[in-house]
Amino acid sequence: MVNGHYHNNSKVTYSIYENWLSTYITDSSIQAMKVIYCNSIYLSYKVYTMKNFIFIFLLVSSSFALQDDLSLQTYFKNYLNYFNTLRRSSETLHDDYFKIVTPQITSKVLISAPHTLPHLRKGKYKWADSGSGALALTLQRATKTHLIYTTRSGVDPNYYDKSLYKVALKKYLQEHPEIELVIDIHGASPKRSFDVDLGTMHHKSIRNVELYKLIKSHFDQSKLKVSENFFSASKAETITKFAFNLGLNSIQMENNVANLLYPEKKLSLNRLLRAYTNCILHLEEAL
Ligand SMILES: [Zn+2]
Repeated sequence: MVNGHYHNNSKVTYSIYENWLSTYITDSSIQAMKVIYCNSIYLSYKVYTMKNFIFIFLLVSSSFALQDDLSLQTYFKNYLNYFNTLRRSSETLHDDYFKIVTPQITSKVLISAPHTLPHLRKGKYKWADSGSGALALTLQRATKTHLIYTTRSGVDPNYYDKSLYKVALKKYLQEHPEIELVIDIHGASPKRSFDVDLGTMHHKSIRNVELYKLIKSHFDQSKLKVSENFFSASKAETITKFAFNLGLNSIQMENNVANLLYPEKKLSLNRLLRAYTNCILHLEEAL
């Protein structure tokens, strides 16, 4: 990190920004990006006058936006690898097949990802919703929500109420009355024509219409193709229905797996990650 090309006089300025950035970004995988970023800040500093203040402001803000997007993508890639590793050791059924993450700050949102790995439904293993775990963990990291997700194979919690995932979820929701919204994250076939499908039991599981409009608008604005209730979450014993019956707002969000996994869909993935993070941060204020 400290071997970046810069003039000796700039060491002090450089290290201030370096320390400041170190608190903002911690993953070693984005160290290279930090070098570029620090150097661009230093260059701005070097040409600093009142006249070009606006230029510097724009440069810094655009660097932040770029850095945020790159961080989201980096986290997402790392989490994809994490779930690929888990998949190799997930052939047998387990009781302790999920994890819960509690944020350091107060959050009114809980993200659920029950299909990160193959799961048992009607006596057969169903394929994982590939990429759904990486999406859920990336969003938790970026927005500091509550999170429950599967780490091994088990009974499908989005099909049976009799699952330890739901027992733990109910207990957790009772212990955290600040949670008002459950977002259940899934992955849909690449054959689907939508980017995101919003499943609300046909506009029943989100009681506040404005809240629903807020969610939908973030994805519409991101040029993503949004569908409504293609998967309504109302047929089986879904997580969405379960949370709704506990008195919460809930939504099942199906994400086209092509956007999550195909390299040529990088732009759509970026739009999706940004839409989700902005949407969740906005929801925290609106709830
Ligand atoms: Zn699913």
